[in-house]
Amino acid sequence: MHLTFRHFSAIRRHMLLAVAASALCGTPALAADKISVTASFSILGDVVRVVGGDRVQVNTLVGPDEDAHVFEPRPQDAKTLLASTLVVTNGLGFEPWAAKLIKSAGYKGEVVVAAQGVKARNMAPEPGHGGHAHHEADPHAWQNPLNVVVYARNIAQALAKVDPAGAAHYQANTEAYAKELVALDQWAREQISAIPKEKRKVITSHDAFGYFAAQYGVQFLAPQGVNTDTEPSAKQVAQLIRQIQREKIRAVFVENMSNPKLIAQLSKDAGAILGQQLYADALSKADQPGASYLQMMRHNLGALVAGMQRN
Ligand SMILES: [Zn+2]
Repeated sequence: MHLTFRHFSAIRRHMLLAVAASALCGTPALAADKISVTASFSILGDVVRVVGGDRVQVNTLVGPDEDAHVFEPRPQDAKTLLASTLVVTNGLGFEPWAAKLIKSAGYKGEVVVAAQGVKARNMAPEPGHGGHAHHEADPHAWQNPLNVVVYARNIAQALAKVDPAGAAHYQANTEAYAKELVALDQWAREQISAIPKEKRKVITSHDAFGYFAAQYGVQFLAPQGVNTDTEPSAKQVAQLIRQIQREKIRAVFVENMSNPKLIAQLSKDAGAILGQQLYADALSKADQPGASYLQMMRHNLGALVAGMQRN
C-alpha cells in the first residue's frame, strides 16, 4: 500500500496521542511493561494490587479459599517467582515453605516481608503444641487493619525500589488506602462497642483472630490452635464443649480455608448456632463477600457482631 502524506500524518497523530495518554496516566502502556509481583497469599495479593495500582501485575501463590499454613509449592510456582521483579511474603512464620521455594527456584530478586515492623503478638498457649509454641509469633497480623497500613507502606517502599519512576504513585495509593483502613478500624470499634462486654466471646476453628481480639476486646476460643496442621484431642474438644455450655456461647464460626467438620460437630454437640463463614487467612472467590481485604473485614465484622448478639 502506498502511504500518502495524509495517511502518514494520521498514523503519526495516533502515535502521538497514545504516547501523550500514557504519559498523562503515568502508567506503562502495555501489560508487558508492568512490574510483575508475586504475593505469597491472596490477602497480601490484594494489598499489593491496591498499592501498585495499574503499574503492577500481581500473581498470588496461595489463592482464594486456600490454606497457606499447609501449602505445598508446585513446580509452576518456581516459574512464577522467576518471572517476578518483587516477591512479597507475610513473614512471622506464616509461610514456612517460602524461603525454601525462593532458594530452590533460584530467585535472586527483591523480597519484602510485609509484616516487618508490626508489633507481633505471641501465640496463645496451645496444650497440644508443646512448649515452643509459646515463644513463636502469631502470624495473622492482618486481622488488625492498622497493621495492614504497615503492610501497605512496606510494599510501597519495595515497589519504589524496583520501580523508582512509580514511587509517587505508590505513595499516593498507600496514603489513600491507609485512610480507608483507619476508617475500617474506627467502624469496627463502634460495631463491637454496641455488644455488652460479657457477650464478646466467639468460637472459631483455628486461632486466626488474636490481633483482632486484642484490638477490639473480643475473646476467641479455637479448638485447633494457631496452625491448621494439628487436630485437637478428644479431651480438648470435650473441654471446649463444656466451656461453650457453661458460658452460653452461641457465636460459633468456621473459616473459609479450613475443614468445617470439626467445628460443625462441636457446634451441634454444644447446642450452638453456626454463624456465617468467616474469612481468616484467605480471601473469597470474586463472587463471594470476601473478595478484597476491606470486603472480608466488613463481612467478618457483621457476622461476628450478629453471632455475639446471640450470646
Ligand atoms: Zn491461620
